[in-house]
Amino acid sequence: MTRRKLVAGNWKMTGSLAANRALAAEVLERLPGHLPCDVVICPPPVHVAAVAEVLQGQAQLLLGAQDVAAEADGAYTGDVSGAMLRELGVRYCIVGHSERRQHQHESNLAVAQKTQRALDAGLTPIVCLGETAQQRDAGWTDWVLGHQLDAVARALGQRLAEVVLAYEPVWAIGTGQTASPAQAQQVHAALREQMAQRGVAAERVRIVYGGSMNPANAADLLAQPDIDGGLVGGAARVADDFVDIVEAAGRSAMPGAGAMGKLE
Ligand code: PEP
Repeated sequence: MTRRKLVAGNWKMTGSLAANRALAAEVLERLPGHLPCDVVICPPPVHVAAVAEVLQGQAQLLLGAQDVAAEADGAYTGDVSGAMLRELGVRYCIVGHSERRQHQHESNLAVAQKTQRALDAGLTPIVCLGETAQQRDAGWTDWVLGHQLDAVARALGQRLAEVVLAYEPVWAIGTGQTASPAQAQQVHAALREQMAQRGVAAERVRIVYGGSMNPANAADLLAQPDIDGGLVGGAARVADDFVDIVEAAGRSAMPGAGAMGKLE
């Protein structure tokens, strides 16, 4: 089964309003047409409306959010609901990023609730899972990911097949230390197996990799059979680098792509 590749840029809490509008326009301008993959940018929440204006009238570059509220509506000061995001044209939403799990103490339960709210609002959640360096060293990677996945699976049941999963090893995010293609492939395959064991149509679910992906390592990662795209942080702030990664994803999805995902 072919899964459509997805490359999403997480701009985190960076850039001024003017800089982020300009970056969106630059990515849009450099993006080649008719690529066989979905491309998403996730600006900071207060810039989503302005970036939506830049993206108006085209369907090539999609809008994403970095987070969504765990509740649908009401007295939740500072939160932004899925419906509010959808109204602005947002299509995807990152949920449970490790930076939010760490700094905002988001629990697995909160991540599961947010995932459910995103789906209810018509957004595709990109649910982040990942182990720390200590957990990997102790051999706990599969257990940790299974635990994180369980909370979401319990909340969603069969709707788990509608999410995108992002395997984001915490030790690789923003560190320049990327998981090797073999390491990432092994975890992605194990995650797919874990979903199949929960009765979900796992072969349909896109699992993207995140953690210091850049133009130099993207093609090798994206050529792995269970890696369906990338969630990109630092390299997403440089239009050329981001578009290079998108092009690598596009090449790896084309019939005839070699083992390295390159059309020579
Ligand atoms: C991220 O923020 O999700 C991420 C993967 O960041 P980076 O690419 O900078 O490691």
